[in-house]
Amino acid sequence: MSVLADNIARAEGYLARFREKGVMNHIAGASVPALSGDWFDSLSPVDLKPLARVAKGGKADIDRAVAAATEVFKTWGKTPGEERRRILLKVADAIEARAEEIAFTECMDTGQALRFMSKAALRGAENFRFFAQQAPGAEDGKALRTETQMNVTSRRPIGPVGVITPWNTPFMLSTWKIAPALAAGCTVVHKPAEFSPMSAKLLVEIAEEAGLPKGVLNLVNGFGEDAGRALTEHPGIKAIAFVGESRTGSMIMAQGAATLKRVHFELGGKNPVIVFDDADLDRAVDAATFMIYSLNGERCTSSSRLLVQDRVYDKVTARVAEVAGRIKVGHPLDPETVVGPLIHPEHERKVLSYVEKARAEGATVAAGGAKIGAAGCYVQPTLFTNATNDMAIAQEEIFGPVLTAIPFKDEEEALKLANGVQYGLAAYLWTSDLGRAMRMTDGLEAGMIWVNSENVRHLPAPFGGVKSSGIGRDGGDWSFDFYSETVNVSFPRQMHKIPKLGG
Ligand code: NAD
Repeated sequence: MSVLADNIARAEGYLARFREKGVMNHIAGASVPALSGDWFDSLSPVDLKPLARVAKGGKADIDRAVAAATEVFKTWGKTPGEERRRILLKVADAIEARAEEIAFTECMDTGQALRFMSKAALRGAENFRFFAQQAPGAEDGKALRTETQMNVTSRRPIGPVGVITPWNTPFMLSTWKIAPALAAGCTVVHKPAEFSPMSAKLLVEIAEEAGLPKGVLNLVNGFGEDAGRALTEHPGIKAIAFVGESRTGSMIMAQGAATLKRVHFELGGKNPVIVFDDADLDRAVDAATFMIYSLNGERCTSSSRLLVQDRVYDKVTARVAEVAGRIKVGHPLDPETVVGPLIHPEHERKVLSYVEKARAEGATVAAGGAKIGAAGCYVQPTLFTNATNDMAIAQEEIFGPVLTAIPFKDEEEALKLANGVQYGLAAYLWTSDLGRAMRMTDGLEAGMIWVNSENVRHLPAPFGGVKSSGIGRDGGDWSFDFYSETVNVSFPRQMHKIPKLGG
């Protein structure tokens, strides 16, 4: 049996339970169908056949999940940080023990290649481990002294929170949001993306088996406009952590306005990788191609705009085109596959529509640009050259294995192009001139800038975007700030003079 055939057989073993019983909601420790009894089908991007039916949750299910999260918050929110740490470390171990199941399930559900998904499952465990270690300090604050008063701040968990996640790397992103919320003492209602619901169900089951009390983490599947909307409008939910499109973020902000919801948004990107002629071009090409063609290009931090100094533009784009042409597109469970099928035919249509737009606007399709095969959403790694910054392919988030290359003359023009989009999530800069790196990083409008490197993550470092790419930061202590209320208590340090009125 080939490795692929063996992997498919193993994946079928993991999927059998979902095929048989469907993907249920999970509320107060129980696996439950939607109260309406409705289901929707989840398609596999591999062959477009139904993978499983999914509970179609709505407002009534959200009400029930919020009631569970509210009840359990009374105890979880007061559980000592050391105890939360102990439980969440066990969750991390349990995730690692089931990493293959998570990775294989995710590959079939999302179309992402196993070579990346196997690491994403482990990164989920790392997220839990990292935030678990911070739980004992989650309440800590500052002492701020004046001559007469001692101000002492501390943090309290904000309450039950809603977590809404997208389909591109669902397990990793869910743990990135849920782990800090739980570590801070919040309870959670999670609404995963309708296109990729499976690993969220695995997560809540794994967490409870590892000792997370029932009702601390609840799961409601369903569509954005009903389950998602109900979660964002629920008065019992104190904050919404959302990862998804910028347009959805602004809808959520409006939906949460009536209940004054605190929001944390990780949104879209159109991230530039800027290559100067003094850069190590081999490394720059490796990094740029990795950041756009890994994870199917369905990645918020993908380097989707390649800005290259004119003197080396032809050389760099030729090398990128060559790499794009060599990349293996195939079944996500094939260990050789780099680019798997895109998530859904709807998304595939959107991605391919940019090939038409590129041609119509006068750009050149220098690599790829076509669908592969009839079944499944397989798209060739694509490179557009001869593009200008006003084209749709330079301005809009395509969210596929599609790169737009634009030449620039000097630092000033590079900055103008890099900043000339509505987004500001990440930027990648390649130069061997330190002074230039300083000037450029000062001027770039992005929440995260990597110099001479690709997206190398360090969990204590802040993650998030500016402009239409987001609100708030995750990572390190920034996550705890979002999931906590800071309270200031002021004590007198001496018998200070109190103003006497009416005397
Ligand atoms: P999406 O915005 O369409 O959906 C994300 C989630 O929001 C889904 O669970 C969906 O059901 C829900 N939703 C939709 N409408 C809603 C509403 N009115 N109220 C409440 N919830 C609603 O995004 P997507 O297509 O699933 O994911 C791709 C997007 O996510 C891209 O734009 C990508 O850049 C972004 N993303 C950002 C980051 C980051 O860290 N900045 C990470 C990953 C993905």
